[in-house]
Amino acid sequence: MREGLRPFTLPLEVVMKKRLICNACGAELTGALRILSGKDPSVTSPEHVDRAPLTEPGVAFKSYEPIMRSFGDAPAPLEFTPQYWLNPDDLTDAVGNTPDNQHLSGCCGMGGFNGPNQICRCGAEIGTLQTDCVTPRVFIPEPGKTAWIENFGTEE
Ligand SMILES: [Zn+2]
Repeated sequence: MREGLRPFTLPLEVVMKKRLICNACGAELTGALRILSGKDPSVTSPEHVDRAPLTEPGVAFKSYEPIMRSFGDAPAPLEFTPQYWLNPDDLTDAVGNTPDNQHLSGCCGMGGFNGPNQICRCGAEIGTLQTDCVTPRVFIPEPGKTAWIENFGTEE
């Protein structure tokens, strides 16, 4: 018999992955993601290209610059920092479009200029998807409505 379990420690090289969950119901909104920080000098900020994702699937970028800035007096809906830039392919089936059509407007896709346009299956407005021809392809979670939990699973 062993004398109890040794505390489990991770080597420093192991990158902790996190999942985004809904604060209201706990649903998992993404798979396990590696999060790169905009404050890490070894991390290059994603290049903004219209219609292209900012990060590869499985990777999120924590940005200390907002993805959009207002040209008027009122701040743009996505003008908060820090904010996370996710690849829309990482969203789970728990995430879908809001029924509020005003928030789904755009040119060829969703502009995400009018506030959160994605909801959890419980109805909580959990973030903004941009898929338009004048935006990158990105999902940005709402900070107050979502949380990151550490991924203790063995899933890659
Ligand atoms: Zn929810």
